[in-house]
Amino acid sequence: MTLAAGDRLAVHGGTPVRGTRPWPRWPRPARGAIAALEEVLDSGRWSIASPYDGRPTREQLFAADFAGYLGSRHCVPTASGTAALTTALEACGVGAGDEVIVPALSWAASASTILGVNAVPVFADVAPDTLCLDPAAAEAAITPATRAIVVVHLYSALADLDALRAVADRHGLALIEDSAQAHGATYRGRKAGTFGDVGTFSMHHTKVLSSGEGGAAVTDDARLARRMEHLRADGRCRTARPPAVGMPELVETGELMGSNRCLSEFQSALLSAQLKELDAQNDVRRTNAALLDALLTDQGLCPQVSSAGTTRRTYFGYAVRLPEDDFRHIPSAAVGEALTAELGLAVRPVYRPLYASPLYDPASRRRFDLGRDHLKRVDPGRYDLPASNRAARTFLTFHHAALLGDTSDVLAIAEAFRRVLAGREQLAP
Ligand SMILES: *Cc1c(COP(=O)(O)O)cnc(C)c1O
Repeated sequence: MTLAAGDRLAVHGGTPVRGTRPWPRWPRPARGAIAALEEVLDSGRWSIASPYDGRPTREQLFAADFAGYLGSRHCVPTASGTAALTTALEACGVGAGDEVIVPALSWAASASTILGVNAVPVFADVAPDTLCLDPAAAEAAITPATRAIVVVHLYSALADLDALRAVADRHGLALIEDSAQAHGATYRGRKAGTFGDVGTFSMHHTKVLSSGEGGAAVTDDARLARRMEHLRADGRCRTARPPAVGMPELVETGELMGSNRCLSEFQSALLSAQLKELDAQNDVRRTNAALLDALLTDQGLCPQVSSAGTTRRTYFGYAVRLPEDDFRHIPSAAVGEALTAELGLAVRPVYRPLYASPLYDPASRRRFDLGRDHLKRVDPGRYDLPASNRAARTFLTFHHAALLGDTSDVLAIAEAFRRVLAGREQLAP
């Protein structure tokens, strides 16, 4: 199908599909958020290191809320998802010279945190339909130096957790589950983040559970939890019994050196309020995404799919593959720009593979210059993975806020795709 002669796409000055009506805003303050923040403000206790006031910290309360939500035994809140990943890697004993397998398609932090603990990220390819780590590729990348696998649940898909857990167990490797994009998703009825030795989350501004900045690491292993407590609070950990009022609750055990990666009391209080609305928001996004899947599939597009064991999907981003034959000569970035112009909503190609991403360049930071050998091992130039390359060429994505609207918003998105597909010749370079 093509557009009638003279019918221009919005990117070429035609009338956009969607007028100026704003898209749902994100983040969105939950009921009770302001009261929770005011309570912290008035309490004088803004950090978990503030003197004990006879009550649990907001951080402890959020940790209990989030662990309960996930069905995990322990939760250690952190300043960011990046901090949670670093904390998880260090808790699992990953360090100098170890190799860690990570999918080539992710946000840079999934791999830069591996560099950050002086280990070597080993990129493995993704499965072409889920965009998540391919278990066979992960297993093929294992060497005697491999210490851990970082699996990422990307956009709206869960990785093949059964297979990846089996690979990790077969080879005695730690499995770290980067669940920064999957708060509330379930696999065989269990929450994402609870399949790894440690599961990590981000509560960054963009994520489906947000405190602007923030993160958490969860585990069922009490020993890992205690290590993570130390690692995120400068080597301190909470006393078994509360101290006298006015005294610090964190003690210097000398067990393990840490860094300050603590979540503030404001962020914790906000997250407890936001968490109450997560499931309902995930439901709205899932319903709208299911309708969009059907509409786009009818047009010959292939929405991202999740692994077979997925029992409940969540949407951090909506990702869809363009029909390759029709778009061989048209860069996906140009299609994204055309959709953006039709919708007033940013539609972009998915992440570039990290070995080709401007966000990932170990040589640009002198801290990673641990000698010629190390620099050679961490050189991203030695990777070129077909499914990751193809995903970057053919998939487009947009942020989950656009799925928080109503049916008319979904219909507008589908209509924009229909127009841009029909008018694709206008985008040929
Ligand atoms: C957002 C994100 C992170 C990093 O979280 P921050 O809170 O931004 O530090 C890590 N991994 C993935 C997959 C992410 O999406």
